[in-house]
Amino acid sequence: MTTSNSRAAGLLHLRDRALKRGDPVPLPLTMASIYLSPGDSSDTIEYGRFGNPTWHAVEDMLGHLEDAPCIAFPSGMAAIAATFFALLKAGDRMLLPADGYHTTRAVAERLKAFGVDFDTRPTASFLDGGFAGYRLVFVETPANPGLDICDITAAADAIHAAGGLFIVDNTTMTPLGQRPLDLGADIVVAADTKAPNGHSDALFGHVASRDPEIIEAVRKWRVTAGSIPSPFDAWLVHRGLETLDMRFERMCNTAELIAPRLKAHRAVRSLRYPGLPEDPSYNLARVQMERFGFLISFVLDSEEKAERFIDGCALMHSATSFGGVHTTAERRDKRGDAVPGGFVRLAVGCEPAEELWKAIEESLDRL
Ligand SMILES: *Cc1c(COP(=O)(O)O)cnc(C)c1O
Repeated sequence: MTTSNSRAAGLLHLRDRALKRGDPVPLPLTMASIYLSPGDSSDTIEYGRFGNPTWHAVEDMLGHLEDAPCIAFPSGMAAIAATFFALLKAGDRMLLPADGYHTTRAVAERLKAFGVDFDTRPTASFLDGGFAGYRLVFVETPANPGLDICDITAAADAIHAAGGLFIVDNTTMTPLGQRPLDLGADIVVAADTKAPNGHSDALFGHVASRDPEIIEAVRKWRVTAGSIPSPFDAWLVHRGLETLDMRFERMCNTAELIAPRLKAHRAVRSLRYPGLPEDPSYNLARVQMERFGFLISFVLDSEEKAERFIDGCALMHSATSFGGVHTTAERRDKRGDAVPGGFVRLAVGCEPAEELWKAIEESLDRL
């Protein structure tokens, strides 16, 4: 099996073999809805809904990182919805995390109108109760925003024994931090809007699977439903992916440094970070994750203090989402997550670690 370092190195040279003398070394942006295709055109793209050289280059990069074919989508939600629409039929039942990204449950709610039903379970006890009767089981690990994790290998074994398909939303870790397909998942979905693009200027998503039938069904859904990424956004994500390894390493290193200091601060309660040895997620995180990630969650005494902490920190933006170069934080209660008013999700960015800590500590000290 390749290591994350060898994958990161290879990522920057995927296009080398196709380059001819005089070609631009960086990826050209192709904006086109039509392609010259006289006669039998089955070997060309033909039309902008069927393909685009710029998305294909991003799919090659993501496929290299996942070690699996990938289909790109215009957002993480488009990727998630594509798996549901491509793989479910009336009468099927799904199991979703009770504590993961809320919009995934909102899509499932809409599917009830088409005869697909679902149940939810907390990520921390996801294996309790078994998986009989579920066509599709979906987890997000670590789950956003509570950072509980699920044993992917044990879940995959139990789900497969019960005859179901297993999808993992790997957004919080990226394929450099965790590879669910290696651990037995059938499908990975992810929002590349987050760390893979990394600059908070485009939305993007992908589906990865080593099962050719699944990939074909998802590809067919994209072509027919028209859920296609913009070439320019693909170009931005391609550029972002070129520095993912560096950014992800910096963000994870900084989160590891800051998490114990934050936890020790008198204003901070109930801090969660999978990289702290006393965290409930730690033992499993060490086994199935290559890094501990860059998300930290904790609770301040009130909604008002949480807002003041975020707004008062010179190196932090009050903004949703995560994985960008700028450190951001958000009170997740604002987004409808079932958390206390003072619950903060901190997404560590690429600022130098000690400078970031100084700014965080100053803002906490002022509360
Ligand atoms: C952001 C996010 C999504 C949705 O991604 P979009 O690009 O915003 O559609 C899905 N899952 C998780 C875990 C996320 O954090």
